[in-house]
Amino acid sequence: MRKKIVGSSWKMHINSFDDASSLAQGIASRVGQQDDIDLFILPSYPLIPMVKAMFNGTVIKYGAQNVAVAKQGAHTGEVPINLLKELGCTYVELNHAERRANYNESDEMTAIKVGLCEEYGLKPIVCIGETGEDIKLNRSYLTLRTQVMWALSNASEAFRKEIILAYEPVWAIGQQESADKTYIEKTHRMLRDIVALDFGEELANQIRIIYGGSVSPQTAMELSDVKDVDGLFVGRFGLQPENFEKIVNNFKGESND
Ligand code: PEP
Repeated sequence: MRKKIVGSSWKMHINSFDDASSLAQGIASRVGQQDDIDLFILPSYPLIPMVKAMFNGTVIKYGAQNVAVAKQGAHTGEVPINLLKELGCTYVELNHAERRANYNESDEMTAIKVGLCEEYGLKPIVCIGETGEDIKLNRSYLTLRTQVMWALSNASEAFRKEIILAYEPVWAIGQQESADKTYIEKTHRMLRDIVALDFGEELANQIRIIYGGSVSPQTAMELSDVKDVDGLFVGRFGLQPENFEKIVNNFKGESND
């Protein structure tokens, strides 16, 4: 039985300590005691200590939006994984489409970072997803299978089940609406089939595959009963505590709307 999980990356949308403080406080008071679902928030690096303090005494976990590809050394501007561990992070997001497009992040780097996560005991949330161009060229399956391969290949068998695959169709990020339910359902099933084919049925049954890309309370309601969607990765629509709460409750099938 896979436990449902809902989390949000604040990207760089939240760029003041005051805003971060009231958002974290609001989220903590609204969903901080919901232990029937895993919850996480990924703020910018300097906000992590504040979020840690705000989520103390709640079930909400936190983490980072990226990590350095090396452990230490001459890597100006990068953040090493041991510091994230010492800050109490549980999760690290890897391979987001914006990092691939704007900062040249590659599949190889993702695989190395997954290895570091295993070594340091952090759970990677590895983003995967086809672009509009992939669809046009009829190569979505190839793209996704390749990304799944890189996400899982540099981890031990035991650690693979700790990895979270965040399916984020690149064309659905930053839009008014998420991809439609049928498309998401079909792709999640395909992703689980890919995991089964390349890494075995047991892992395919255990690994959590979550959906991201313009997730709203409406998306959460629609996807709450989709068997292969184990969670949601929320962006802009999770930046108000009441919305984040709605998304969590709707996804649990406890909507009051
Ligand atoms: C994302 O890019 O991971 C994301 C979920 O963003 P948004 O919901 O804002 O599209």
